[in-house]
Amino acid sequence: MDVRVRALQTLLVQKGYIDPAALDRIIELYEKEVGPHNGARVVARAWDDAAYREWLLTDATAAIADMGYSGRQGEHMVVVPNTADEHNLVVCTLCSCYPWPVLGLPPVWYKSAPYRSKAVIDPRGVLADFGVSLPAAQHIRVWDSTAEVRYLVLPERPVGTEGWSREQLAGLVTRDSMIGTGLALTPQQAAAASRAAAAAAAQAGTPAHSAGGAA
Ligand code: FE
Repeated sequence: MDVRVRALQTLLVQKGYIDPAALDRIIELYEKEVGPHNGARVVARAWDDAAYREWLLTDATAAIADMGYSGRQGEHMVVVPNTADEHNLVVCTLCSCYPWPVLGLPPVWYKSAPYRSKAVIDPRGVLADFGVSLPAAQHIRVWDSTAEVRYLVLPERPVGTEGWSREQLAGLVTRDSMIGTGLALTPQQAAAASRAAAAAAAQAGTPAHSAGGAA
């Protein structure tokens, strides 16, 4: 696959259809600047500010652009809020439509045929695959993205976060929670995750022979 992409790129550059520097800039943009941290800031603001939440739910494109996030694949945004009664799940049954400005590029599973078909047929089963179990009474609503409309899930604000700053809140918002295949982290889960990340970083910092010698 990689070889075919490179061959195609070489051909397009040789024919003068694309500028390699522009291509590098686009790749760098989506690697470093655009990603789920953008969406997380949108969600955190909506949790913290009722007026913004209202704006986000009535005109998501404008409310998201107010945070500085707009552009390709985000021209027509709709934000769907999770509640105690209803959980939202986003899929693109046709291909891989995804709100790039707020989530970056889609994960591989989002583009996979099993996810795209099962999300519609058995959304509760998909959530189980992701380790999410919802109360039976909570209805699951599936949203099929198109080239026209891109959806973003507004997850429920975790309990125990009263008085948290927006930056703290954003740390609880995962990519999957904005697709609907996950929930926002609880403060306990976030603390455990940051401990695990710190441990992994410490492990990576030790010499290879001691870190992975036993494996
Ligand atoms: Fe698509």
